[in-house]
Amino acid sequence: MPAGNARWSFEEAFRLNKEIPIAPVHDPHIIPRAEHGISRRNISKPALRVLYGLHEAGFRSLLVGGAVRDLLLGRQPKDFDVATDATPEQVRKLFRNCRLIGRRFRLAHVMFGREIIEVATFRGTGEAGDGDRHLVDGRIVRDNIWGTIEEDARRRDFRVNALYYDIADFSVRDDVGGMQDLHDRVLRLIGDPETRYREDPVRMLRAARLSAKLGFAIDPQASAPFAELAPLLADAAPARLFDESLKLFMAGHALESFRSLRQHGLLAPLFPATARALEAGDAVLLDMIEQGMANTDARIAEDKPVTPAFLLAVLLWGDVRELAKALIADGLPPSLAWQRASHRTVTEQARHVAIPRRFSQMMEEIWILQSRFAHRTRKRVFRLLTHPRFRAAYDFLLLRQGEGEDVRELAAWWTSAQEHSESDLSQSLETVARPQGDAPATRRRRRGGRGRSRRKKAE
Ligand code: ATP
Ligand code: MG
Repeated sequence: MPAGNARWSFEEAFRLNKEIPIAPVHDPHIIPRAEHGISRRNISKPALRVLYGLHEAGFRSLLVGGAVRDLLLGRQPKDFDVATDATPEQVRKLFRNCRLIGRRFRLAHVMFGREIIEVATFRGTGEAGDGDRHLVDGRIVRDNIWGTIEEDARRRDFRVNALYYDIADFSVRDDVGGMQDLHDRVLRLIGDPETRYREDPVRMLRAARLSAKLGFAIDPQASAPFAELAPLLADAAPARLFDESLKLFMAGHALESFRSLRQHGLLAPLFPATARALEAGDAVLLDMIEQGMANTDARIAEDKPVTPAFLLAVLLWGDVRELAKALIADGLPPSLAWQRASHRTVTEQARHVAIPRRFSQMMEEIWILQSRFAHRTRKRVFRLLTHPRFRAAYDFLLLRQGEGEDVRELAAWWTSAQEHSESDLSQSLETVARPQGDAPATRRRRRGGRGRSRRKKAE
């Protein structure tokens, strides 16, 4: 997990929630080693090294969060987070390959090649522990107050995310009823849902995402405030929303995430233009988005490369197309109209979800190439076929086939163009480009004697 993502999660993870009682809601339930399915074989070596390193130095040392949840469900965790009573400085002294990150929410990252184990000190309420907390306008801008494991559990979002695996005796610790929820396959928030979403609106997106990823229901009490509170997401940092969008759409469950967002009215704060088009009943766009999401999920399942630029381009297609149409109707030349429309669409979207330059550039290219598929003169066809974005743009064209016969014909033509040899294609294009007996003989031949008998043209 990139450091940026980790920092966002934890900044919000430990916002103070005064509504949550300090005394345990349930007695902590300790599930001994023999009664749960977590095996050290499924925990990564780096995570085990950190867990044992802390334990041997006399600190509390537990795996926590999504990793414990996923292991209990028999799934392979994406990353491993560790919770401890050691301070970040103490953690740093123990591991050579360690750096401290985040000033506002200090954490230790222990690095093992590409794998990073995130080690967080238990956060507390500040009533007893020492530390450093700073508030501005009621929002916590710094929270480095250390606490107990009981307090730490209550700072987390969902009950299934507040389970700990203790390396001291291999037991699972459940302070808030997470085991029950795993059994019921439901996401329940810890504490009062409205309060918890006001502290951190991104928790609403986490609910939609985790329910899609795990196939869990969202507890009706946890989804009830969505309608009223979804607009709060407008105030979330666009960079954080981009990280969250990656987790929603690039983790192998894009289609389910998308459906969950729509179902819960959470698409509009992220992608307002898309939500508007879908609300207006654009069934072709909906189909295209769902197909794009399904294709991305399939590629991830097969370990094929994927880029967020493609899905973002699909999501915003309705918007850019309408804008380009309007600009062309205003008299702008089509190529300029597409450039302007593409640029405006990404700029407008980036006010909500930040889009790094390398992706926005690719989105614009994919869109602009759509307008070039219709030009089938030889020069343009070969230029397009060798364009670095051709493949993505062609895949995009295939998704657009629901738009009508014209697009289906174009897609079929470009499919067959790739199946033909360069020389066959070149010759057939000459026929297309010069149907009225223009003098093709003056054209320069390609090297390697590829020019074939002109007889073929007549076929
Ligand atoms: P994933 O499978 O996507 O990694 P996760 O639950 O592990 O899901 P992370 O972002 O890795 O998600 O966060 C790790 C843990 O930190 C969570 O399980 C949860 O306990 C806590 N956490 C993360 N984000 C928040 C938040 N916004 N509010 C409260 N707790 C959070
Ligand atoms: Mg995680």
